[in-house]
Amino acid sequence: MRVEFLGATRTVTGSAFLLEKGPLKWLVDCGMFQGGKEVERRNRNIRSYRPEELDVVLLTHAHIDHSGLIPKLVRGGFRGKVLCTQATFDLCDIMLRDSAHIQEMEAEWQNRKKRRSAKEAGEPLYTVKDAEESLRYFQAVRYDEILPVGEGVRVRFRDAGHILGSAIIEVWIEENGEEKKLVFSGDLGNTHQPIVRDPSTIEEADILWLESTYGNRLHKSREETDQELLQIIQDAIDHQSKVIIPAFAVERTQEVIYTLGGFIRKKLIPQIPVYIDSPLAISATEIFKKNSDCFDQETRNILLGGENPLELPQIVYARTTEESKAINEDSRSGIIVSASGMLDAGRIQHHLKHHLWRPESHIVIIGYQAEGTLGRRIIEGAKTVRLFGEEIAVQAQIHTLGGFSAHADQKGLLEWLSHFRNPHLEVFVIHGGEKVSLEFAQLVRDRFHFRTSVPQWGEQRVLFGPEATGAAEPFEPERKEEVEEERQPSSEVVSHLLRELDRSFKKLRRKLRRGRIKEKLVRDLEQLKGLEEIQEKIEEIESKLE
Ligand SMILES: [Zn+2]
Repeated sequence: MRVEFLGATRTVTGSAFLLEKGPLKWLVDCGMFQGGKEVERRNRNIRSYRPEELDVVLLTHAHIDHSGLIPKLVRGGFRGKVLCTQATFDLCDIMLRDSAHIQEMEAEWQNRKKRRSAKEAGEPLYTVKDAEESLRYFQAVRYDEILPVGEGVRVRFRDAGHILGSAIIEVWIEENGEEKKLVFSGDLGNTHQPIVRDPSTIEEADILWLESTYGNRLHKSREETDQELLQIIQDAIDHQSKVIIPAFAVERTQEVIYTLGGFIRKKLIPQIPVYIDSPLAISATEIFKKNSDCFDQETRNILLGGENPLELPQIVYARTTEESKAINEDSRSGIIVSASGMLDAGRIQHHLKHHLWRPESHIVIIGYQAEGTLGRRIIEGAKTVRLFGEEIAVQAQIHTLGGFSAHADQKGLLEWLSHFRNPHLEVFVIHGGEKVSLEFAQLVRDRFHFRTSVPQWGEQRVLFGPEATGAAEPFEPERKEEVEEERQPSSEVVSHLLRELDRSFKKLRRKLRRGRIKEKLVRDLEQLKGLEEIQEKIEEIESKLE
């Protein structure tokens, strides 16, 4: 039994683990890498997922950093099944199309740039058609049912309480008459999160993949967070200004609607306009209404009382661009909820352009801001940011409200972990920034004495079975990248590097002058793309050094 860590290692995106038991191969999650060109280049590396050989993808939940490469996987030859809950299936239906649309637009924009400089056009990571095609391979499963997925492998999805339909996945493996149990935490929800239930507790496991997004932080309580949000809204009403809430379209937006609904029911705020400015969030809200069987008791009670917790009389839904633009023409105070949650794409950027420079506006950050994103730069105190080619001063009041998190904090993670009874449990700490994961792993070792490690990207391990050694063998690309990162910079190293680069390039040019080799390159798209990437990279370096 082997595993290859293909993503969410020392980072919070690209979640993917390739498992192999004899001829059976499956993935747990197939997420997209996000947060800067460097890490996003990994999205093009789909061959290392061995799409044609895979039998099954077990999908924990619909977030793009867990599901976003499935269309690419199918395009790469995957013909197995993608198993997930019904709500995850419904959400992926809109989210993968949306993601593909973003990819197409991005490629289109890049290609326009390329055409202007007479370069050849590139392809999007995947298209809307690819996304639609990939949905054919999805198959819904129920929570809490044990299902066989291949010779000697059974799985069960449990509620992870993170977003609608999210799951912790239990996997039982039988090998050489012995049974072992693997548990994948997926993303674990926060307790007392609105709408969804609390995460299920698990007691048995031999090996656990544990997320650590907030492994070093404690969230403020829900009550404190609500109080803070109320004060912000009150201030905006007093100054006739706007409250901008960048929110992930799925779950966070619905939680904001739910929370504002609570304020209004309790008459804590007047009926000021609430704009939901994200077509994806609007569609997601419909999916939430359809999957009310996933709701927690509190939310069901509101429904039973004849009210819909996801409907407010003063909500203005903006689907079209015109509707979106109209929001900023309304001079009254109001609340704008828009995507993307990390501020680096989507309509939220237009609202930022309108409001970041106004001292009376409020920007309320309620979600995780990965490194390299615009959201991260703003909460870290950037004085100006660039939006649509314009330098915008950051003068608005910036608030971060941790209590809205859809992730367990350090306390929540430790509490969830405390239910495991096996003293020999082995824990892989994943899905966290490098420093956070390492610190959290240490904490888990100290607290529970479990065997704990923080895998590297591309690391392979034999988990158990006759060949088990536990030895780590990271694959080549990462090793190279790391060596380069670790190298102490000195001017000598730089000159050497530039000379080498020049030499390799000249050698390649010489070869290319021979017609046959040029033809070969034309046919070998993968190599051609490699060259294109190098070219892009050099441009990137150049622009950063200016
Ligand atoms: Zn998630």
